[in-house]
Amino acid sequence: MVNMLAKSALYVVATPIGNLRDISLRALDVLAMVDIVAAEHIQTSRHLLAAHSINTKAIALHQHNEVAVAEKIAALLALEKTVALVTDAGTPGISDPGAILVEYVRKQGYPVIPIPGANAAVCALSVAGITNPHFMFYGFLPNKTVGRKRELTALKAQTCTLVFYEAPHRIIDCVNDMVEVFDAKRQLVIARELTKLFETVHSCYLGDALAWLQGDSNQQKGEFVLLLSGAEIDNKESISDEAMHTLETLLEELPLKQAVKLAVEITGENKNKLYRQALELKNDSDL
Ligand code: SAM
Repeated sequence: MVNMLAKSALYVVATPIGNLRDISLRALDVLAMVDIVAAEHIQTSRHLLAAHSINTKAIALHQHNEVAVAEKIAALLALEKTVALVTDAGTPGISDPGAILVEYVRKQGYPVIPIPGANAAVCALSVAGITNPHFMFYGFLPNKTVGRKRELTALKAQTCTLVFYEAPHRIIDCVNDMVEVFDAKRQLVIARELTKLFETVHSCYLGDALAWLQGDSNQQKGEFVLLLSGAEIDNKESISDEAMHTLETLLEELPLKQAVKLAVEITGENKNKLYRQALELKNDSDL
């Protein structure tokens, strides 16, 4: 149990993205001990607090009143009260309100303390099996095709994995625009309803994604994280012809892991690059 809270502090508390038990012990302590919880939707947060037998008073803070409520919260902090900020799901400030309040409170000189926890993007990445260690979080794309395609086109050369949030009523249009902008051979991981009853993580070629989504209307429901593999420049181009030839030869005779291990030893090439290349060669030969 947290013994004491910092005086006049704003705690930024991550809450679950589905399963109500995905919340840290420290978050529960803080939510129970602060004077006020500032919540995106009071009703949603009350449900979470009640599930953990917490009855701290809540006020609403959302994107339409954040500036005004920030002033009220700063006034509470001036009286040595403590406040916790939560949103409907996940980490505040990540495609959610919070940044305006945090900036305001920090400028007034009060402590702002993070209480980490669930985040849909990181949750999806953790089960995606994408070997590229670099990713770029984009969040929500524009609602309409013209704006969406403009943004996607600007991202075309990014080599890191691209991370998007999407709503069920736009999922088909969004994936359709991706198909029109990116190479069909890019990998798309569709992570739906994470931590909930109908949790689904489906990995496929971008070119096959629409058929999969349209093949079962249930797969178009709920909340989505889309992970799109990055542009391919550092794979093939930076692997020498010799390393490529060695890898191809070994893959014909050995299991993938062993082939990569030996290819690294023989050629001195980077293990991750060879591993990614081997996966790609194997996928191509499986088609
Ligand atoms: N602050 C949150 C976070 O830390 O992830 C994100 C809030 S944003 C308003 C809501 C979006 O996050 C949803 O539209 C969806 O794209 C994604 N999301 C939230 N919960 C999710 C879940 N359980 N499964 C998949 N995506 C989810």
